Amino acid sequence: MSLVVVGSVALDTIETPRGRADDALGGSATHFALAASLLTKVRLMGFVGEDFPAEHVDLLRKRGIDLTGLETKPGETFRWHGRYLENMNVRETISLALNVFGEYEPVPPPAYRDSEFVFLANGSPVHQMQVVERMTAARFTVVDTMDHWIESDRPALDALLKRVQAVLINDSEAHLLTGLDGIAAARALLDFGPHYVVVKKGEHGAVMVTPDDTFLIPAFPVAEVRDPTGAGDTFAGGMMGCLAEAGDVTPAIMRRALAYGAVIASFNVEDFGVRRTAALTPDEVEERLEKFRRMLAF
Ligand code: AMP
Repeated sequence: MSLVVVGSVALDTIETPRGRADDALGGSATHFALAASLLTKVRLMGFVGEDFPAEHVDLLRKRGIDLTGLETKPGETFRWHGRYLENMNVRETISLALNVFGEYEPVPPPAYRDSEFVFLANGSPVHQMQVVERMTAARFTVVDTMDHWIESDRPALDALLKRVQAVLINDSEAHLLTGLDGIAAARALLDFGPHYVVVKKGEHGAVMVTPDDTFLIPAFPVAEVRDPTGAGDTFAGGMMGCLAEAGDVTPAIMRRALAYGAVIASFNVEDFGVRRTAALTPDEVEERLEKFRRMLAF
């Protein structure tokens, strides 16, 4: 079933204790789409500037990602510069320039309007709401956000949370929104509106709560984490790719979807930027999923 993602398409500069990348392909929608495209057809919506390298467009296109909704605008592409500390669960944003990503309203192209699964990747909650209002065929809309937006546009985010079926955020963002930690923060988020709340906890996995279910999933352990950037978005891509492919959302399908999310995110962190996910194959995903299943059986 049709899946659309709207979010940032970026040029990222990343520093981690394992190395550095400059002006590498990144962005929330990019990481998401590369992950989801391993499981289903995905449509991408976003803005880039005239400086966005053609080779990046080719890479996304070669993965079968529908780019009808990727618009090139006068100006520069969104740029983000982040640094991870020795404990790679903690990162700081050194600079962020929204550029064309901050300037334009997202208008879904007519060919995207029948999409039933919608992922609002990290971006302005005002723009995320405009997408909700325009995607009238949507059955399952999931929103992600970040400290930047929680701090700068809380009222718009609160209004948005009332209009979506699920929220997917990390534990520090859940704390920022609710003032609570752990499972209490996840449960409190149900009162904001969504029926499904997924809180990501980096190397400690994720927790899903619904009004009558709680599910915990660990992170798939990898030998070396080189760059955690995009872990959250590739987790979301695996999850939504699985749901869209199933064409339905039930607590049982959601559990399976979270396993795909954890597995694809675990590949993503093995190398810088999108390098690992861009080279990943569906067979590698299935093989690791099987290993993960055996690790979790008791
Ligand atoms: P993640 O590590 O999953 O949280 O996603 C990191 C990606 O989000 C990077 O590739 C950045 O380009 C992008 N990003 C960082 N800050 C923002 C922001 N405020 N809004 C949208 N995207 C962002």
